[in-house]
Amino acid sequence: MQDNLSTPALTAALGGEEDKLLACIHCGLCLEACPTYVITGDENDGPRGRLYLMRAVGEGKLSNESRAFERHIDRCLGCRACEQVCPAGVEYGQLLEAARAELFSSATQRGFSYKALRFALKHVWLQPARLKFAFAVARFIRDSGVASLLLKSGVARIVSRRFEFGLALLQSSGPENGLPHELDGKQANKTPPVSGPSSNAAPQTKVCATKNRAMLFTGCVGEGLFSRVNKATVRVLGVNGIDTIVPDEQVCCGALHAHAGDLAGARILARQNIKAFSVNEELPIVTNAGGCGAMLSSYGHLLSGDETFAAAARTFSERIRDISQQLKLVGTKTGASVPTGPITYDASCHLLYGQHAGEAPLEMLAAVSKLNFARLEGSDRCCGGAGIYNLLEPDLSREVLAEKLANIRASGAQVLATGNPGCQMQIGAGAFLAGLNLRTCHPVELLDESYAQAGMYNQD
Ligand code: SF4
Ligand code: SF4
Repeated sequence: MQDNLSTPALTAALGGEEDKLLACIHCGLCLEACPTYVITGDENDGPRGRLYLMRAVGEGKLSNESRAFERHIDRCLGCRACEQVCPAGVEYGQLLEAARAELFSSATQRGFSYKALRFALKHVWLQPARLKFAFAVARFIRDSGVASLLLKSGVARIVSRRFEFGLALLQSSGPENGLPHELDGKQANKTPPVSGPSSNAAPQTKVCATKNRAMLFTGCVGEGLFSRVNKATVRVLGVNGIDTIVPDEQVCCGALHAHAGDLAGARILARQNIKAFSVNEELPIVTNAGGCGAMLSSYGHLLSGDETFAAAARTFSERIRDISQQLKLVGTKTGASVPTGPITYDASCHLLYGQHAGEAPLEMLAAVSKLNFARLEGSDRCCGGAGIYNLLEPDLSREVLAEKLANIRASGAQVLATGNPGCQMQIGAGAFLAGLNLRTCHPVELLDESYAQAGMYNQD
């Protein structure tokens, strides 16, 4: 690499490891794994082409304000499917983050969507009280029936297709899109000890009765729109002998900031989370969102240049586990069958490729007795959600989603379980707008229902 790089953000994001840009041997084995390359057939929409662009910018041969750099880096889903098939071990996820940091800091004139994103990241996502308020408004629009009315009347589509899809995303986060959750009320007194914002229970300093304990990362979208999944997670962990602590001071994981290139914002949130979870440093940190889990697992890299936090960030990242990985460690108890139609599973890219959860989520699902499982072709392919890619790059996202919906239709599934709220919303919204009869939920919700059917919450 040249010494006089004109790309301070990119090089800073790589933390002195600019040689990672040179690791690609141009073999092309990643091309067919890349959803955007498969759709457009454009080399620059594949990993190899994007790496060329990053390297050209890094070497000062291409401006960081060039249209090609902006367009093709923006169009990457960040799914990291390319990493899995790369024989040279190219750390594409880290390189993409660095390229986005370069774009974020460049003088490139971005469209309205990107300007709005930048505003929201700074003035809403970094301000917990405002974020809480924003999710309260979103829940009101969803739960009052306003979203449904605007969608079903066709008004949302008249405004714009992007607005319609945004409302469908919100609508598909609702509990009516998952399994019936009578549990939330009826079993309130049967749940294991919990503390923190997702419960009505005691404060975080609660001392748990058993030696099996874990801390729960609730997530901003998780707590804002999917608190039922957090509650189900706590109940399921409890049945399997694990008491849960939920720290009050935790904040958003910073994935949206990191994916947008705002690494300074991501670091602010990371430091806050490290402090919030430092109370019980010996405990694992459980998440139920693939996107959050992958981000939390990368704090070690994100804060590697921070003298004060580097060591704590590495320790923090080593503690991160998806709920399915934690259950696999202790051995998941089997519940009863659940009364639904065929169930299928779609892997969250970040759970699969970021957290390397492998078969753990499927093993968690298998703890539901007599599971009526429908195999899903391409379950390891991205759904096109990718954070808020679906709103920033709607056309390409829609094409990626169309393939997913076609496979779901062919599977005959009536229920789809997936371990990330973004995927749940993306597939739920697509299914709703396509008129597909499909409920989307988290696998832990199915296991929770299975335990309820077995009467496991009624045992003392
Ligand atoms: S992260 Fe996904 S979309 Fe981006 S280059 Fe890799 S495979 Fe393609
Ligand atoms: S598989 Fe790896 S080495 Fe081969 S072209 Fe893709 S990124 Fe480069």
